[in-house]
Amino acid sequence: MHPLKNKILKEIDSRGPIRIDRYMEMALFDKELGYYNRANPIGSKGAFITAPEITQVFGELIGLFMAQYWIDCGQFKPVTLLELGPGKGTLMSDLLRSSRIVPGYLDSCNLCLLEKSHSLKEQQMKNLQDANPAWLDSLDELPDQPVFALANEFFDALPIRQFLRGKQYWQERLVGKSGDSLQFELSPEFEFKPLEARLKDTSEGNIVEVRPGARDFIQGILDKIKKHGGIFLIIDYGASQSLGDTFQALEANQYADPLANPGSADLTSHVDFGALVKDIEGVSVSPLLGQGKFLQNLGILQRSQILTKNLTGEELETHRKAIDRLISPHQMGDLFKVMAIYANRQPVPQGLH
Ligand code: SAH
Repeated sequence: MHPLKNKILKEIDSRGPIRIDRYMEMALFDKELGYYNRANPIGSKGAFITAPEITQVFGELIGLFMAQYWIDCGQFKPVTLLELGPGKGTLMSDLLRSSRIVPGYLDSCNLCLLEKSHSLKEQQMKNLQDANPAWLDSLDELPDQPVFALANEFFDALPIRQFLRGKQYWQERLVGKSGDSLQFELSPEFEFKPLEARLKDTSEGNIVEVRPGARDFIQGILDKIKKHGGIFLIIDYGASQSLGDTFQALEANQYADPLANPGSADLTSHVDFGALVKDIEGVSVSPLLGQGKFLQNLGILQRSQILTKNLTGEELETHRKAIDRLISPHQMGDLFKVMAIYANRQPVPQGLH
């Protein structure tokens, strides 16, 4: 048995069934055994692959989008360029390369990264050493200046709680055990204030997911945007509100049972974009756009055409497939969404309407 599973079983023995967010925290971030602290969590060798790992075009376009918005906002100087959960550092490295063509932009940026995994931090140190980034332990350390922030597939990795709509209120789905196996169990029904509004649009048997830590990340960035200006670009898979069980595991790029092999599989769930920005005030929020539409607005097809001129045979085929994977509605194009939060006094970001 994987030693992490043993650790989780022992915790359940002593405390009773645990919440899913506690289970995710241990499975993903246990100091020695958590999935993100092992050698190669992301990429073709890991459990899952993300957009920047599919093609460099993704990061390059996001880089140009940010640099263009910096121009549209009047060229803040200095500005914090921040990424949450930078993975291997690939997106940031592609972004920095493409934005070099904008005079004065990178000289105005201090690069800050927020990363919880030790092994990914090491990869970021290697891949981004020329850019001299600073790693923040928390958003409280953000400098008092405008911030251009981005998060790709960050929120989906934050732990969730799941609630099953009962006759009157909610039952929480918990992780319990039977012998050596982990299994889902249900708490007794109880009133849960944060989901009060969802009693109106759900019925008995529906599942709704809540991500307790997500709003702190939004708030930390929002405070700087309100005071000094800037933008927070969020890309992730999900929808405008949570409905249904989307808790899933990927192991070696295959779907797996989320309770079967903690520590060996990546665990995620769809992002509830509505909940990220519910009742926030004093800033503008863009419409929620499909990733496919957003990347096409940014000119991915034109960029792709230029690149294909130098490609033949297998390379050409791989490139075409990569672009298709990012934008096709049958692949990431519709499921993945893009949303931006920016200061009211700033222009609407190009490509997001
Ligand atoms: N953005 C990258 C990686 C996505 S995987 C890409 O697109 O390839 C999720 C990333 O978020 C990983 O780097 C993970 O270690 C990081 N992460 C998850 N929870 C975090 C937290 N609470 N604080 C900081 N980083 C976190």
